[in-house]
Amino acid sequence: MSKMPKALSVLGIPVHVMSNYPGWLLECLQQGRGTHVVTLNAEMTMQAEQNKSLAQVIQDAELVIPDGAGVVLYLRWLLWQKVQRFPGIELAEQLLQEIGQQNTAIKVFFYGGAPGVAAKAAEYWQQEIPGLNIAGTHSGYHSLEEEEKLRETFRQVQPQVIFVGLGVPRQELWIAKNRHLCPEAIWIGVGGSFDIWSGTKTRAPAWLGNNNLEWLYRLYQEPWRWRRMLALPAFAVKAFVYRLTARGAIS
Ligand code: UDP
Repeated sequence: MSKMPKALSVLGIPVHVMSNYPGWLLECLQQGRGTHVVTLNAEMTMQAEQNKSLAQVIQDAELVIPDGAGVVLYLRWLLWQKVQRFPGIELAEQLLQEIGQQNTAIKVFFYGGAPGVAAKAAEYWQQEIPGLNIAGTHSGYHSLEEEEKLRETFRQVQPQVIFVGLGVPRQELWIAKNRHLCPEAIWIGVGGSFDIWSGTKTRAPAWLGNNNLEWLYRLYQEPWRWRRMLALPAFAVKAFVYRLTARGAIS
């Protein structure tokens, strides 16, 4: 197993910077090493300040990747070198492509989104990669009894890559509570990725993402998010103070 890179601290939260996340995850898969992947952005960092359970779950995750302009700009400032933003949706897409090329026996599961959305996302991927083994899909809106049935499905099917799209922090807390059901799986919180893959929503144009402005597009698409986005300037102020007073590397 390739060595885990040093974790850097973004307001006390570990972030792992490495050049090949999908490759590292494939090694985890081959070795049956259960992994929780968190894709960190500024909003989540600020939520973790208020929500100690979320903070603990992120601390315990095997891999935290920098997804989000604020986190990346902060890391660049910390390291004085280019840190690439790696949106969670792109990590998920690259991982699926790699699985399609290397081992289509690997069982994949899509959990989350409005009724029918995960199934539609699975259809999309099945067309992209015909051999892909999508072992199941489940919507993210359900009763407690249905959820218990879903747990039983996980126990029996033992998917190896499980995408959970319930939004932050629900998906991170859900994974931490339930990952024991498939201890060898890679569990990734993917937010609204099923909405994109199913065609329900669209992603920002690449030029906005490349200029760290994807958040602006989301605000345009979902204006009701403005309140949540106040976390961005709050993060900037906090990061500035933290950088001046604390050391970056935490392990
Ligand atoms: N969602 C869900 N169950 C819930 C609440 C939300 O499946 O109880 C889904 C919702 O349909 C959407 C995703 O979670 O597909 C949240 O997407 P968003 O882009 O808002 O995620 P975030 O920005 O929080 O990562």
